This record gives sequence, structure tokens and C-alpha cells, in this order.
Amino acid sequence: MDYKKIAQLLYPDVTETPEDIFKRYPRRQLKEGQVVTRFAPSPTGLMHIGNFFQAFISYNLAKNSNGILFLRIEDTDEKRKVKEAKAVIYDVLERFGIKFDEYQTLDGKDIGDYGPYVQSQREGIYKVFAKKLVEEGCAFPCFCKKTEGKEDVLKLRETKFYEDDEKEYDPCRDLSYEEVKKHIDNGESFAIRLKTKNTGKERIKFYDLIKGELEAKANAKDFVLVKSDGIPPYAFAHAIDDTLMGTTVAVRGEEYISSTPAHLELFEALGFTPIKYCHNPLICKMDENGNRRKISKRYDPEANMMYYFEKGYPVDSVLEYLLNMINSGFEIWRKNNPDKPWQEFKFGINDITAVAPLFDMVKLNDISKNVIARQSGEELFANWLFWAKEYDAPFAEILEKNKAKFTKVCAMDRDGATKPRKDIYNYSMMKDNFDYIFSRPTSYELDSADTDKANEFLSEYLKTFAMPSSNVEWFEGVKALAEKLGYAIDNKLYKQNPDAYKGNTAKACEFIRVAITGHKNSPSLFTIMQILGEDEVKARLSHKF
Ligand code: GLU
Repeated sequence: MDYKKIAQLLYPDVTETPEDIFKRYPRRQLKEGQVVTRFAPSPTGLMHIGNFFQAFISYNLAKNSNGILFLRIEDTDEKRKVKEAKAVIYDVLERFGIKFDEYQTLDGKDIGDYGPYVQSQREGIYKVFAKKLVEEGCAFPCFCKKTEGKEDVLKLRETKFYEDDEKEYDPCRDLSYEEVKKHIDNGESFAIRLKTKNTGKERIKFYDLIKGELEAKANAKDFVLVKSDGIPPYAFAHAIDDTLMGTTVAVRGEEYISSTPAHLELFEALGFTPIKYCHNPLICKMDENGNRRKISKRYDPEANMMYYFEKGYPVDSVLEYLLNMINSGFEIWRKNNPDKPWQEFKFGINDITAVAPLFDMVKLNDISKNVIARQSGEELFANWLFWAKEYDAPFAEILEKNKAKFTKVCAMDRDGATKPRKDIYNYSMMKDNFDYIFSRPTSYELDSADTDKANEFLSEYLKTFAMPSSNVEWFEGVKALAEKLGYAIDNKLYKQNPDAYKGNTAKACEFIRVAITGHKNSPSLFTIMQILGEDEVKARLSHKF
């Protein structure tokens, strides 16, 4: 067969050889154990948590091995909407602090020696390798219309070229030079397909860094390497790019396991050493029937990474939660190291879970409460304001105008507290949580059976009320009045004989708390009173339930 002549007919303008290209992409000089890895998102318009999960794993593998992390935009399928969609990816990565050693800036400047880091700018490179494969008889042009997609497969299935279901040989795989020339002279476009060496009977073994050795049916399909518009789908572009860019470990979703045999055949045809794959499990959710399903952007708002910003989760909460999913050892580490930054938790490839993690909002909130509890009042205020500026601008103005007051609000039961309150897990809940600071309560969490007692206690309390100057003074004042009005100040006595009292001191405090905040639970009442000021406190205490 005149493979060389066919290749020349298809790619008359391609003059470079793979060797020329390799000269532009020299092998990276790495130290023992250094990982070169990448995040290779397709710009779809949103960042899915599953993709971000891969980015975060890759980020840690590179960081923990003093290796290299690069960003490659895989936009061969998404050409039209690339610009905005790319911005979404960059925005999310930046907000989460995922920094790359090599990437292309949004305005198109390559940082690093292995670019361009955007696939649509690498078409010239792909052609060189496509030409080489055709020259060697490992790939061939296919002129069937609609060479991709289901219709095509159906059409091909009807032809006698299929000997059995095990393999999918393409009708064009053995076209002669003359036949190819005829198509080309007709001005027909062509796809390039791999000419598989397999017959459909072979099996192959391959190694996955998370799952260990896997065995599967070898590829026996003449799958498409370059589409008729000249653009390579994932497999071909990935094999070339990861090889040229010197990737040592590719972290990608488990959904790629089934096509790994095809990828490995392609690496072999190209004469490349296969890279190491790390197929990470997909994040799941439990459905109503108790079955696991993949977390999906259609049904689960939390599948979109922007969700966490909109809700105001601290970046560290989300990252710590993901670490927890990657390796359950993180939870124990965190318990033993409550104050250390998560960056000090180190893990390697062998520590990545092989089991699909289950997304659990309660767990995320729990982690987040702890993350927020570690912030000082000032930090919390700054983070709250930062969030509000983007998602609740009118409220951000109020916060800014009352900075001193709200910093105090944020510091309540926090600065200097041995056990800081853990009731806040995102910044969007703070407005509701501290609603009583902004305005008088409109509803009161008081048990209806307590109405008369509360009214009596509060009107007595108000008669002698003066702003307390310390927590102790405040509490002593409440206790004295409670005792006078028939409340037990010794809880033990109260428990032994509750009917002998109107309630205990805690009950009396509850009346004051509900009158001032509307809630049965709140941070230190003394501090709240200081923030509200005497007139406001008195006005609230005079409320009649
Ligand atoms: N663009 C592919 C994706 O987003 C990348 C897969 C890979 O990391 O190799 O699924």
C-alpha cells in the first residue's frame, strides 16, 4: 500500500515530522518522585465538583512531590463558547487558590515551555502525528459522511464490513491510493481513524494507580482520531499533549476507564510510552430509593462549584471537605491538629480513596462550622463583608457603615472564648442568624405556657434595669430577681422539686434572651446588650408576649 503517498495527499502542507516537534518539547528534567500532572478541563460553562475534585487531587500530588502542575484547556469540542467558559474555569480555580506552574493566561499568553496550553491552538501539532500514523499504515482517512455520532455507527453496522459485534472495522480502512485520490479530487472532507490491530478477541491488562491492575477487552474499533473538520476528539489530543507536555500522572474521572484500552492502543501506535493513569472515583449522592447516583449538575445545585461562593462557604471549608473525601485519614489528622492549615496534611497517590465518596451536606456544614470557628471576629467580619459585596450589595453597605458594631457582633463568643460557638457554616446565613441586631424581633420562640410568667418577670426586671458593666454583674442581677420572684437559683433543688418554683435561673435568662433576640439560643446576652445599647434593650424588654 502507498501509505506515504496517501499521507502526502491528505496533508500536503504538513512538512514537520514528529521528531521536529519533540525537539520543541524536550523531556523534563525531574528529580526522583517529582510528579508532573495537569488539570485538563473542557470549557462547558460551569465547573462541576467532579472536575474540581480532579484539579484538587492533581494540585496536591504536584505540591506534595515538589512537582509541576499545569492547566490545559481542552476546547476542541467547545470552540464557540470558549471565551466565557474559560473565564469561569479560571475564576473558580483562582478563588480556590489552585495555582498552576504552567498555563495560558486569559488573554492568551503562555506561561511555561510546553504550550500552547489550549488545545484549539495545537491543531498543527496534531496534524503532524496524524500524518505519521497514516504514513505508517496505523491510521487511514475515512470519507463516510457523518463519521462521528450514532447515525454513523448505525449506518456502518448495516454494511457487510462488520464480521461480528466484537469489532468495528471501518469500510474505508483499506482504500487504495487511487480511491483516496478520487475522494480528495472531489473535494471531500475526511476523518482520520485508527486502524486497529485487534480482532475483537484480545484482552489487555493495565495498571491504574488507584484501582491497581485492571483487565478489559482490548480495543477493536477503528475509532476517530481526527474529525472531518480537522479537530481531534479527546483520545488523540490527550495522547499527544500529555506525552509532549511530559505528564507523569494523569488524574481523570473513572468514566475514562472503559476507553483506556483504546487510549493504550493509540499510545502504542504513536510509539509513545503510556502515561500513568489515576482514575478517581466519581462523587455520588444517595437518591430517594437509597441508591447511589453520580452527583449531577441537573439535579444538584452543589455540583456547580459556584454554589459554594453564592452560599458563602469559606474556601477552606470546601477544600477540607474534599480532602476528607480523598482520604478519610484527614479527619483524624484534623482532630489531632485543630489549628494547622490543611496544606500541612500530606497525601500521595496511594492514599486516594478507591471508593466513590458520597456527598453529604451535613458533613460539609460540620467541617465548615469548625473552619469558621477558627476565624477571629475581625476575620469573620472581613469575610462576611467580602461575600456580601458580591452577593448582597445593599447589605454590604450597611455592614461597611457599621464596621465597629458588626466586628463586635462577629467577635461574640469567639475572640478569647475557650470554646467558640459553632453555629455558622456559611456567610449567607449570618444575616438571618444575627437578625436581632438589625431590627427588633418580629417573632418570639417562647413556649406559650410561659407567657404570663415571662411578662411578669420582664416587667419586674425592667423596673430596676440598669446596663450591667460585666457579665458577672448581669448574671448576679438576674439571679437576685429570679430568687425574689420564686425561681430556683440552685438547679439541684429545682430538679428535686420543680413544682415548688416558677422555674430556674436558666428559665429567667431565657425570658430575657427571647425578649431581646427572639431566640432561645444566642451568643452572650451581656455582649448583645452592649452592642444594642441601653435604650434599645429597654425597649425590647418592655415587649409584652
Ligand atoms: N477534558 C477532559 C474532561 O474534562 C479531561 C480528561 C483528562 O483529564 O484527561 O473530562
